[in-house]
Amino acid sequence: ATIPQLLREAVASHGDSEALVFRESGDRLSYRDFARQVDRCAAGFLALGIGKGDRVGVWSPNRLEWVITQFATARIGAILVNINPAYRLSELDYALNKVGCRALVTAQAFKTSDYVGMINELAPELAGSGDGPLSSARLPDLRHVVVMGAKAGPGMIPFEGLLAMATPALIEDLDRIDATLTPRDPINIQFTSGTTGMPKGATLSHFNIVNNARFVTDRINLTAGDRLVIPVPLYHCFGMVMGVLGAVSKGAKMIFPGEAFTPVQTLDAIAAERATVCYGVPTMFVAMLQELDRQHRDLSSLRTGIMAGALCPIEVMKRVNRDMHMHEVTICYGMTETSPVSFQSFTDDPTEKRCETVGRIHPHLEVKVVDADGNIVPVGGKGELCTRGYSVMAGYWGDKAATAAAVTDGWMHTGDLGVLDAEGFCSIVGRVKDMIIRGGENIYPREIEEFLIRHPDVSDVQVFGIPDKTFGEQVCAWIVARPGSSIAPEALRDYCKGQIAHFKVPHHVRIVTDLPMTATGKPQKFVMRDRMVEMLR
Ligand code: ATP
Ligand code: MG
Repeated sequence: ATIPQLLREAVASHGDSEALVFRESGDRLSYRDFARQVDRCAAGFLALGIGKGDRVGVWSPNRLEWVITQFATARIGAILVNINPAYRLSELDYALNKVGCRALVTAQAFKTSDYVGMINELAPELAGSGDGPLSSARLPDLRHVVVMGAKAGPGMIPFEGLLAMATPALIEDLDRIDATLTPRDPINIQFTSGTTGMPKGATLSHFNIVNNARFVTDRINLTAGDRLVIPVPLYHCFGMVMGVLGAVSKGAKMIFPGEAFTPVQTLDAIAAERATVCYGVPTMFVAMLQELDRQHRDLSSLRTGIMAGALCPIEVMKRVNRDMHMHEVTICYGMTETSPVSFQSFTDDPTEKRCETVGRIHPHLEVKVVDADGNIVPVGGKGELCTRGYSVMAGYWGDKAATAAAVTDGWMHTGDLGVLDAEGFCSIVGRVKDMIIRGGENIYPREIEEFLIRHPDVSDVQVFGIPDKTFGEQVCAWIVARPGSSIAPEALRDYCKGQIAHFKVPHHVRIVTDLPMTATGKPQKFVMRDRMVEMLR
C-alpha cells in the first residue's frame, strides 16, 4: 500500500476515533479530522508548485504539523526529508543541499535554537523575496519556507497560510494525483542517527516503510483499542514509521507527551491517558525509572512497548518489566537503511530471551552472519549481520559509492556484530567499529558495560577503546553516578579486579554528569573517544 492508502483505510474503519493527542499544545484530532488537515496541507503544497519527487524538509520537534506534513507530502508523491531538530546552521545547510530540498517546513524556534534566525542567516535573500519564490545563493534549490505558529519572518509562509491556500479545485486534484502513486516510489529520505559519524540519507519507498510499520505493530498485537505513547522523535524512523505509520496501520491512538523527550512528561502522559503501549530507547527508560524512584505514578494500564535503537542492559529490562508494568515489552533491532526493523521479540517470548536477544527475524526477510572475508559463520558464531528483503533502502541519496559499500546483491551490511542461536534468536554484540582489540584480545564493550551497570552507584556507563602505543587499543569507561552518590575512578577499577579479566578492566575511568548522545538518545562513542584522546594528549 501507499501511505495515503494507509490513512484512507484508517479513516474508513476508525474515522471518529481519536488519532492524535499532542499534550504540550493540547491538539487532539480524530482520524477523519486529521485526514482533512492533511488534504488541505497537500493542496497547499500543490499551490506552491510542489509535486511528485520534489523534496520537502521538515525541521521541528514533535508537533502536529510534523505529522500533517508527513502525510501531506506523501499524498502528492513529494519526498519527505526528516531533519534532526538538534541540527544547527552548518548541519541544516548540509542536509538541505545534500538532497536539494525545494521547501522547508519548520518551527520558529525550539529550546535554544532559533530556527528562523538560522534560516535567515543561510538565506538572507528571504527578506527581499516578498510573496514570490525564494532564490538563495547558499540554498539554490530552496524556494519556500513554511513556519509553524503565528508569526513567520519576511518571505516565509505561516503554516496556517499554507492550509489556507487549499482551494476546492486543488483538493479535487489530489485524487487524480493519488492514482499516479505507486508503492515503489521513493517517499522519504531519513538521515541516520550519526552514532558513528556524519549522518547518511537513506532513500525509502512507501513499500519499504508501510510494510515495516505493519509487521512491527503486528508483533506487539497493536489494535484500534490501544493508546500508544510516543516520546521518541518524529524525525527518526522510530517515531515516524514504528510510531505514526504503525499506529495508523492499526487505527490506534497516538499520544505525544511533549515536543522532546522528558521522563516527567512521558510518565505523566502514560498515567493521564491510561496508555497501553510505550516506546523508547534504553536511555529514556533509564531516565523514566529514575523519575519513578522520585515520584510514583500509576502505570498499570501499560501492557507492552518497544525498546530499540541500542543495547538494553538486563537490569534496566527487568525493572521496565516490573516497575513500569511492561511485562510484554518487546525489543527491536533495526537501522534506518532497513525501514527500520528486522528483528523483534514476540510479546510472549521467555523473559530471558527478551533480555538477552533482539528476538527473531521479521517475516519476508533473510539474514546471514558473516566473518571479515564474507563467509557465513556457523550457528552460534559472532560476525557481521546482513539482512535482505523488502525493507532494504533503494540507496543513500546521491551517494552511489556509499550505497555500493553498504548493499551488495541486495544484502544490507549492517555494521553490527551479532550471533544467531539455533532457534533463530539474535544477540547484538556491538558494532564492528566499536570492538576493542587490546593486545590481540577482542573485547566487546557491552560485556564490560553490563558488569559495571550492576554497581549500585552507577546509573549509566559507556565503554570504548582509544589508541594505545603499547596495546594497540586501551579500554576506557565513562560513568554517570546515581543521583546522591559519588564514585572514585580508582575504587571502580578495584571493584573490577578479580571480577572480570584483567585486560577488560577499564584503564581510564572518567566520571561525567552526562554522556554525549544523538538526538535520539544514543550514546556517541566516537565523540567520547575523540574527547578522551584530546584530554590524554
Ligand atoms: P549512523 O549510521 O549514522 O552511525 P546509527 O547507526 O546509530 O547512526 P540508526 O540507523 O538510527 O543510526 O541506528 C541503527 C543502529 O542502531 C544499528 O545499526 C545498531 O547498531 C543499533 N541498534 C538498533 N537497535 C538495536 C538493539 N535493539 N540493540 C542494539 N543495537 C541496536
Ligand atoms: Mg548506522
